Amino acid sequence: PNNLYGASRENSSGVDWGNPQQLAEQIASLQKSGELPHAAPSTLVGKIESTPHEVRNPANLSELVGYVSAASKEDIALAFDKAGQARKAWDDAGATHRAACLVGAADKLRAHRAELVRLLVKEAGKTLPDAIAEVREAEDFCRYYAAQAREHFAEPTVLPGPTGEDNKLSLRGRGVFACISPWNFPLAIFLGQVTAALVAGNSVVAKPAESTPLVAALAVRLLHEAGVPRDVLHFVPAAGKMFGEVALKHPALGGVCFTGSTSTAQFINRALAARDGAIVPLIAETGGINAMIVDSSALLEQVADDVLTSAFTSAGQRCSALRLLFVQDDVADRLIELIAGGMNELHIGDPSLPSTDVGPVINQSAASKLEDYSKKVTQKGVKMLKQCDLNQVRTEGSYFAPRMLELNNARELTSEEFGPILHVVRFKRENLQSDVLAAIREAGYGLTLGVHTRIESVWQEIVAEAAVGNIYINRNMIGAVVGVQPFGGEGLSGTGPKAGGPHYLFRFATERTLTVNT
Ligand code: NAP
Repeated sequence: PNNLYGASRENSSGVDWGNPQQLAEQIASLQKSGELPHAAPSTLVGKIESTPHEVRNPANLSELVGYVSAASKEDIALAFDKAGQARKAWDDAGATHRAACLVGAADKLRAHRAELVRLLVKEAGKTLPDAIAEVREAEDFCRYYAAQAREHFAEPTVLPGPTGEDNKLSLRGRGVFACISPWNFPLAIFLGQVTAALVAGNSVVAKPAESTPLVAALAVRLLHEAGVPRDVLHFVPAAGKMFGEVALKHPALGGVCFTGSTSTAQFINRALAARDGAIVPLIAETGGINAMIVDSSALLEQVADDVLTSAFTSAGQRCSALRLLFVQDDVADRLIELIAGGMNELHIGDPSLPSTDVGPVINQSAASKLEDYSKKVTQKGVKMLKQCDLNQVRTEGSYFAPRMLELNNARELTSEEFGPILHVVRFKRENLQSDVLAAIREAGYGLTLGVHTRIESVWQEIVAEAAVGNIYINRNMIGAVVGVQPFGGEGLSGTGPKAGGPHYLFRFATERTLTVNT
């Protein structure tokens, strides 16, 4: 319950799957009819316009989940104008007030958990456990950042000085933050960015991913109901490129918090560098080609279980997901056999069923991209070790069969393939440095890394070499918990700040020193 700096707080509670009543409640909430479709208008317009985009269920494309009205260039610029005007009063209102709004929002998230879970399942194709975990994470971000803000932002720090001089250091908001988020955690990442920026004293223009605006719109409504003024937080669903064109040049822009692909982050970075006027910082949390290293001392049954969880949970659509499995050659055949056996047992299908392990990918274009990649590399000689069977799956959904490929060399994998594709590479113990650690380093990503070994000196050697943000020894490598495993990568994987960590809020603030000669 106590975080690193002593602010008292607890993470949210989960759902006990062994409790028939809790399970029945979750299922009943998904089966409720009459409330769909949801709407996601921009906060400036306030209502859905006459030609909205439709949002469809990736598990069943014939099901309409809701509508979104895309904001125009003028709407985006106006949102920044208004947020720019509103930001000083919000900053002056103080961290204690802002933290109270976040705690209020956390309470509302808890009260609306069933509706949020339902939207995550229907809009993003999340399985039930994934959706529940995501709502919990969103709530945890609110309470964690509220506690951090009370601890560090509420009062200035008094500094030593000569007699007759008072020195104080205070943390203030930077201005208007543009918060740009991906579709794969459309609630938790969206809300994590927004609440961190808000509680640090900034106003926010928040852009959800094009595929998942509905759950984000509901989250913004709850923040407004919890006391965040409407002009302090604008919700602007817009196409990414157009949003970037307006937002990154707007004079009120004080910072950008971005989560998404490395290439988009690099684009934003270049656009910010080309701005005239004040220098605007970028917080970027991006992708990875995440590896797990397994040596011959590892417990292979546990490894197989952790590999299945790390590579295929959320249909592999997690930035932390395992992409590249390095296995010491003397245990490789046995481990591959265990993983393939586990893949036979995966339930792929309707994410609203509690028995489903792997749901759809986000849309048909993502499924085709993964299919094209798989076809291309297997035609070039990459070996298909195992492909799951999709026979039981609805054809109206955007499904992609999880698969395991074998590469001759890790360097053959040069891009983040964002889906349930596991690549296996064998290595010899004497080549751990040259074939494994050097290959990871050369790829340049640094988000997550898993290690399975029962020899302490082996994992210590790997940890000493790896420039990776989140390293997991002898467990799976997904599901970082707020305040427990602060999350974020380095190198091509991001600028380093750790969401859900004790230093995150400082990246959203500027520091002012006041010296008074008494
Ligand atoms: P993406 O294509 O980079 O999009 C991310 C966001 O950026 C979306 O809201 C997108 O809008 C917007 N965008 C696109 N072009 C833009 C531009 N020129 N200017 C401003 N905004 C722009 O990434 P994605 O496909 O949504 O998400 C998957 C990626 O996110 C993967 O690489 C994954 O590893 C990464 N990810 C990283 C983390 C982390 O914490 N490190 C967490 C989750 C995901 P539209 O949707 O409208 O295009």
